[in-house]
Amino acid sequence: MDELKLIEPSHGPAPTPAIEDVVPAERGTVYVETYGCQMNVSDSEVMLGVLKSAGYSAATRLEEADVVLLNTCAIREHAEDRVIGRLSQLSHLKMKRPDVVLGVCGCMAKHLSEQLLDRVPYVDLILGPDSYRDLAQMVQEARGEPALDVKLGRSETYVGLDPARSEGVNAWITVMRGCDKFCTFCIVPYVRGRERSVAAHEIVRQAEIAAQEGFQEVTLLGQTVNSYHDGETDFADLLEQVARVEGIRRIRFTSPHPSDFTPKLIETMGRDPKICPFIHLPLQSGADPVLEAMQRSYTTAEYRKLVEDLRAAIPGLSLSTDIIVGFPGETREDFDRTLDLMRGVRFDSAFMFKYSEREGTVAEREIPDTVSATEKGERLEEVITLQNGISLEVNQTYVGRTVEVLVEGPARRPGQTSGKTDTFKTIVFTGEAEPNTFVDVTVTDCTQKTLIGELA
Ligand code: SF4
Repeated sequence: MDELKLIEPSHGPAPTPAIEDVVPAERGTVYVETYGCQMNVSDSEVMLGVLKSAGYSAATRLEEADVVLLNTCAIREHAEDRVIGRLSQLSHLKMKRPDVVLGVCGCMAKHLSEQLLDRVPYVDLILGPDSYRDLAQMVQEARGEPALDVKLGRSETYVGLDPARSEGVNAWITVMRGCDKFCTFCIVPYVRGRERSVAAHEIVRQAEIAAQEGFQEVTLLGQTVNSYHDGETDFADLLEQVARVEGIRRIRFTSPHPSDFTPKLIETMGRDPKICPFIHLPLQSGADPVLEAMQRSYTTAEYRKLVEDLRAAIPGLSLSTDIIVGFPGETREDFDRTLDLMRGVRFDSAFMFKYSEREGTVAEREIPDTVSATEKGERLEEVITLQNGISLEVNQTYVGRTVEVLVEGPARRPGQTSGKTDTFKTIVFTGEAEPNTFVDVTVTDCTQKTLIGELA
């Protein structure tokens, strides 16, 4: 289970980011559809950057593109089924325009590899997450025979490749790739490879480019982002270096692993006002036997102590988490401990899932799935009900306060605008404000998901 969050899980794939500056479409146009987590959004921007340098330009509509790439996710079977469904829709495009290069990239490409050609024989290109450096050349090769490269690199971090960033007010910067944790339920280490960090000077360079492009907020990305290290430079040092980049006012990161928080990192977060007081801190289960079976490398006591330390050091800290219910062997008593821990910690929000087996993981091979589908469903409903109540109560504590908001753009209702607080809460407010500006908003009401307010 990936700890990076799925982007807009219920709203379909993200379209190709716009390439702002005009480049001659000498080689044709490209459209990238992104599935999965923020890491994939960031990778899609790298892919577009590579193709842009090679003379491609971005198509605004998939139907008009010469190259169509689906950047995919393998975290759950459902994610792969969606892409297979999308590919079958695209068979019409291939029939109408056989010269279009249709590619599948990312985690699912690595996971299914050649099998994809059996299932979708009209795919021209299959590229794993470490194969984007040669993307332009691979697209050329795929014009003849189907081309495939799913090798994982021990050292590929895409140093020197500048992303073509999407619109929006946040710049994603990948600071490390892969994962060495091997949680028993998770496929990420198998499809994204071993952990490796990007050189700190390259990350600072990326932050400087983002600032020059006008971004005031950056999010540092990695599967276990706080295990980052470049020689003597650890994640706390990296945050400080990025905080010194002129023009950057907010720094976020996702997703950290609870075991990789150090006192130095906690102290740095508490001290530097540019580092946002929000942490996505994946819990997964509130029962020690389950955490052990998951190979999560922390106990519930350690997790609770970490939360205590973080809250003591970082005023107003907002916390979100991931919870898996119905992991093999989880008893009713174990599950009750998860509910207890949630009541104790009072997360601002949570991503909650029923356990489902993922082929190729240790859990699938070695741990029999003992919890019935009905029980899993009931437990999921219980955690969601509990968390919804807590989220609403936490949001209610904001009512009456004035918060600084980074404006994202117009909200759905005319005359309203939406943005984010530094604690990563979505706020919709009455009044108009330019995207990518900071405004003060007084919170007047809330739901469990959204703060509601008016310009202060
Ligand atoms: S830390 Fe665990 S859950 Fe997160 S990516 Fe690595 S193996 Fe997967």
